[in-house]
Amino acid sequence: MSDVMARGMQGDAEPQPAAYVRAAVAAVAAYTPGEQPSDPAVIKLNTNENPYPPTARVRTAIAEACRDLHLYPDPSARRLRELAAELYRVDPEGVVAGNGSDELLSILMRAVIDPGQSVAYPVPTYSLYDTLVALQAANAVRIPFGDDFVLPAGLFAAPARMLIVCNPNSPSGTVTPVGRLDELARKRRDALVVIDEAYVDFAAETSLDLVGRHPNVVVLRTMSKSYSLAGLRVGFALTRPGLAAQLAKVKDSYNLSRLAQAGAIAALEDQGTMLAHAGRMRATRSRLTAALETLGFEVLPSQANFVLARRRGEALEALADALKTRRILVRYFAALPDALRISIGSDEQIDRLIAALRAILAR
Ligand SMILES: *Cc1c(COP(=O)(O)O)cnc(C)c1O
Repeated sequence: MSDVMARGMQGDAEPQPAAYVRAAVAAVAAYTPGEQPSDPAVIKLNTNENPYPPTARVRTAIAEACRDLHLYPDPSARRLRELAAELYRVDPEGVVAGNGSDELLSILMRAVIDPGQSVAYPVPTYSLYDTLVALQAANAVRIPFGDDFVLPAGLFAAPARMLIVCNPNSPSGTVTPVGRLDELARKRRDALVVIDEAYVDFAAETSLDLVGRHPNVVVLRTMSKSYSLAGLRVGFALTRPGLAAQLAKVKDSYNLSRLAQAGAIAALEDQGTMLAHAGRMRATRSRLTAALETLGFEVLPSQANFVLARRRGEALEALADALKTRRILVRYFAALPDALRISIGSDEQIDRLIAALRAILAR
């Protein structure tokens, strides 16, 4: 009897759909992205997007690229990678461009991890790591952060072929000093050390220097947050050329569309806009943090474009629901029931959030 029939047979009934896919796929719970409402009036503070839309320059570059849509894009995204290499001061051959950094995480998992092997990371963190490890039929070694979100020492000893550190971390917004990651890469030459820098443009320091110093470091960047391009899907893996060539074997050949490459090039060429938006959001972050503390929340020191606001021992799901009734979305995680993750919106959006919180909490 075939595997499908063995796993799916229930009397004379048809096999269940799950019987036709790998057991690891059937067993995994689908990753749940933050809600994307269709109502444009909703204030979205739930998925860490940039509140400021891309510039006219980016829109024009994308419009111009439309003329050539009958032709395949550059499979290696050479111009985009060269620009990224110049900006991040790495070898252009050490840059892999991805359809968002999510694709690069998926490429890393497929390129590095065999079924049954282990991937270690501190938790709570970006929950897509769990999903990708499970899809690979691999083992997640989840090492809990303490209350202070200092990098757990257990990561240095974790039996794993890949270590992932999200830095700044989500959903805490906290950072691990680069010196500590340098030490991790040095002591764990047996493992690939992936540093997910999705939020680093809102932070004080980057781990990019570690690429030059260690053969086992991959830094991931995305244009989704600081560059206001979540809808375009562009990210980068930055590493040594030899490893980049191995990773590139695993990607789809045309993983970045012409529109994505054109828009990303225009956005990278305009550092001024990104830096101005990030600076503005850092100021809004300070203002929101102070207001939340006045309202009785504990706020972890954030270097990202969101804050984690806690009320110890209180279940905050009802508060998230009450905000939603007022058409304000924030992120609630069942794993952190006394906390809400709030993205840094525009000043106007954050003012409306603070007013809504005041009204709800006063009841
Ligand atoms: C948003 C995010 C990503 C995904 O970025 P995309 O480039 O949009 O796929 C990866 N890692 C972390 C930690 C993120 O928050």
